[in-house]
Amino acid sequence: MSEPNEPDRCDVAIVGGGAAGLLAAIWAARTDPHRRIVILDGARRIGAKILIAGGGRCNVTNKKVTPHDYWGGSSNAVKKVLGRFTQPQTVEFFAEIGVTLKREPTGKLFPTTDKARTVLDALLAETTRLGIEIKLNHRVENIRPVTQETGENLFEITSPAGHIVSSKIVLATGGKSVPKTGSDGHGLELARRLGHELTPRIFPALVPLQLADGNPLTQLSGISLPAQLTLSEQSGKRIETIHGDLLFTHKGLSGPAVLDMSRHWLAAQSERTVCLTASWLPECSLELLQTQLQNLGSRSIRGLLRERLPDRLVETLLAFAEIPLEQTGADLTKLQRKNLVGAVLQYPLDVTGTLGFKVAEVTAGGVPLAQIDLKTMQSRIVAGLHLCGEICDVDGRIGGFNFQWAWSSGYVAGVSV
Ligand SMILES: Cc1cc2nc3c(=O)[nH]c(=O)nc-3n(C[C@H](O)[C@H](O)[C@H](O)COP(=O)(O)OP(=O)(O)OC[C@H]3O[C@@H](n4cnc5c(N)ncnc54)[C@H](O)[C@@H]3O)c2cc1C
Repeated sequence: MSEPNEPDRCDVAIVGGGAAGLLAAIWAARTDPHRRIVILDGARRIGAKILIAGGGRCNVTNKKVTPHDYWGGSSNAVKKVLGRFTQPQTVEFFAEIGVTLKREPTGKLFPTTDKARTVLDALLAETTRLGIEIKLNHRVENIRPVTQETGENLFEITSPAGHIVSSKIVLATGGKSVPKTGSDGHGLELARRLGHELTPRIFPALVPLQLADGNPLTQLSGISLPAQLTLSEQSGKRIETIHGDLLFTHKGLSGPAVLDMSRHWLAAQSERTVCLTASWLPECSLELLQTQLQNLGSRSIRGLLRERLPDRLVETLLAFAEIPLEQTGADLTKLQRKNLVGAVLQYPLDVTGTLGFKVAEVTAGGVPLAQIDLKTMQSRIVAGLHLCGEICDVDGRIGGFNFQWAWSSGYVAGVSV
């Protein structure tokens, strides 16, 4: 206990008790159990994102994790961190704390209980076992490096609930996505005040895309189907192609393929005019579809497309290509055929925006990896400050990759701090 006028003092302060902060705390305590380790979190309840992840089941990691599943920091940089706490080590760690994981056909790994609560409870039980203190309702407003008369460098951490002084600090405050969970971006501001230069753009990723009111695709709300999305420059040069399931919503587009595409669309459209198109028959080539339409004879076009696509989508595609619903192959003009092939294989998705940080699963941008020593996750700008998790400029695709980054970078920060 500190004296009445003396600030509370700890050896390691972890700001943010999400996935990365919990791992950092656990590994800091496992590495040196004789220190006072304190997690400060602004939220009333800990682990909100773990609990909502994966639809409440928490997609902990993926069967195969490579640096190419991430954006932001370079593959080489990401690889250095993932290599220190790999997917098999993650699976082993969770088994050791009592969480067995199962692999789904998509490659995603979930707890066998299908409950995110199992993951959070096990992590919290481990923090208790290790004597880690968790202070909730402690939103850190400011962090100030101070040098003692003895020459010792400390951090003075201020929150409305009081001050705490620590010799080491781990900033694990997440990004800006779903701010109601506590990750409201203030941690990025703390990093900036401490001298870090943030990436020029910080934007939502894994976020649904919006279509204009009245876009016919919004009438298809509820339909889900496999699609191939292609993002190109106006010149036609391809920027990104993504295969996967797409879900129509009343506001626009969602589903894994759309969520994965969102960060590319946002990054590209801020710099230049881009075009996003969908192929509703990803396995079908232009030539094959053209031949099938040419050989259709007296059969209806709608009938052909209905064999492979939901009827409501077929109606929308025919309307887009200005082809009457009952038209047969024999009556199809060359122009109509061209329009229809375009509608089926290169449907222009006139995206107007995204649903923003409020619902985005992750944040793109943050503290550049170049400003972090990746062997320790220590800041290259401020000695004694470590960073991990989503605050870093790393965002993964859908499938457990973002948690894997949080576990791996949290581990490196924890064992090094
Ligand atoms: C709906 C949803 C579903 C998701 N599903 C998955 C999934 O299934 N698999 C996957 O891999 N990823 C998923 N993600 C992404 C994943 O949850 C995040 O990438 C991951 O939680 C990031 O961990 P973190 O510890 O860096 O940050 P966070 O989990 O955001 O934790 C940061 C913590 O810091 C605290 N904090 C912030 N600022 C301060 C401050 N100033 N002072 C004190 N405390 C502060 C917050 O309260 C919070 O507790 C999902 C995200 C969302 C939103």
